[in-house]
Amino acid sequence: MESSNTPAPQSTQEILQELEEYYADAHNLYFQTISSVLEAADQLDVDHRVKLILSQPKNEIMVHCPVRMDDGSWKLFKGYRVQHNNVLGPYKGGIRYHPEVKLDEVKSLALLMTMKCALARIPYGGAKGALKIDPRALSKGELERVTRRLTVALGNNIGPDYDIPAPDMGTNAQTMAWMADTYINFAESSSKVIARGVVTGKPLEFGGSAGRDKATGQGVVYVLEALLPGMQMALPELSFSLIGYGNVGSWTGRLLQQRGSSMKAVMDHTGAIANPGGIDAEKLAEYVSTTGGVKGYPDAEAIDEATFYGTEVDLFIPAALEQMVDLEHAQHIRCKVLVEAANAPTTPRAEKHLLAKGIEVLPAILCNSGGVTVSYFEWKQNRLSETWDAELVDERLRKVMNRAADRVLEMSKRLNSGMRIASYAVAIEHIAKVYGMRGVFP
Ligand code: GLU
Repeated sequence: MESSNTPAPQSTQEILQELEEYYADAHNLYFQTISSVLEAADQLDVDHRVKLILSQPKNEIMVHCPVRMDDGSWKLFKGYRVQHNNVLGPYKGGIRYHPEVKLDEVKSLALLMTMKCALARIPYGGAKGALKIDPRALSKGELERVTRRLTVALGNNIGPDYDIPAPDMGTNAQTMAWMADTYINFAESSSKVIARGVVTGKPLEFGGSAGRDKATGQGVVYVLEALLPGMQMALPELSFSLIGYGNVGSWTGRLLQQRGSSMKAVMDHTGAIANPGGIDAEKLAEYVSTTGGVKGYPDAEAIDEATFYGTEVDLFIPAALEQMVDLEHAQHIRCKVLVEAANAPTTPRAEKHLLAKGIEVLPAILCNSGGVTVSYFEWKQNRLSETWDAELVDERLRKVMNRAADRVLEMSKRLNSGMRIASYAVAIEHIAKVYGMRGVFP
């Protein structure tokens, strides 16, 4: 395994060898992710059967959705739902729309959801879905048709007690409204109210929760508030840069700015911009909502990728696709802490390099669990027919994030390990305990 110097025990090596038959490439994201998860498990002496179970998802569902386009032509879109584990509760995780999505990526993200929910101690397992599609290239009507078709194709593989999707990259509250509406139409009349809870991240007026839209960014900020003082840093007046200015990036930027920090540089799929005096996070969010990207933003200077990575900041925050920060980028990065707001944005080799340079890396399953936590609050409100106000959501979210951060700190001291291994270890220890109690049926 790349991130450890001691060889893995025989039992773990056997699992990895089996996986290697599928994943000839050691840079494969699933192989990388499961390797670090097993490395963490080995620090805890977890039962072999738990490692074996976690090494592969329970179900990998693939569907194909024929959809009529606005011009009368037909297209076939490939959809995935990977259900990794449900020992702690229903499968849970987002559905992303992206033109280059692959099964292995969805598998890794599903595994990370299992870890994320276990670390946050919310009663869910892990799943992830995807549709291989470019949402920017489709009309609203086409997006609605493909979303409803996907929901029908998934059928009973999703449900409020079984598997609960949510927004992810390329999807939003409107996507969830279409999914929920389609699902409710098929539900028994006696369970139509509960059926709303089939997805979270819905619009506020249709069973959504206050604070869900900003939840991932808000969670990032709460984690930073909890952990930075221990690193002799504090939030007001820090500088930061962001990769990605979608939901997670723009909310993280705006909330950090509200606390007095300054955004120095931003990069997304359209280009990179910088302003040493600070980029106004609110104005940039408005600009991106009309143009679709940061390129051409008037109150900043256009910069190239190398300059973006080399911009000196306190916090470097990837909030876009996975594996964006590789070894070459890591060599340019000049920051004190890398905050993983996106899922799996740092390759193991990049992480090793950053740690060797003295840069702390805060892992995604801790930093970005605010999204799924407020999803849980939404699902709970749906079941209880309650509406919580924004203050209550924030207060409860802060508690969940603080406790998760404390658990990780404690575990990293206990194992004398980095934050990533400690985060996985907290999650696995909890899962292993529950397997110990429940047993493996039949
Ligand atoms: N897509 C988000 C994530 O990766 C949220 C998932 C959810 O709310 O279920 O954590």
